[in-house]
Amino acid sequence: MRVAVDMKLCESHGQCVFAAPQVFSFDDEEYLVYEPEPDDALRDRVEKAAAACPVRAITLGPAS
Ligand code: SF4
Repeated sequence: MRVAVDMKLCESHGQCVFAAPQVFSFDDEEYLVYEPEPDDALRDRVEKAAAACPVRAITLGPAS
């Protein structure tokens, strides 16, 4: 699974961090950082994160 976040859209709301803390987090400067190829076992959580994002900045795709 691949995850991409459009950082031009992201407003650091943090819903993705709550939904999938294994994949999304904030760095020391409150910028979102994320694992671009998380384990497929985390798909449910990543899908919840994408659905929760108020600006729809998260997209999922198949692994490369
Ligand atoms: S929920 Fe969306 S806007 Fe908020 S930090 Fe995550 S990607 Fe960015």
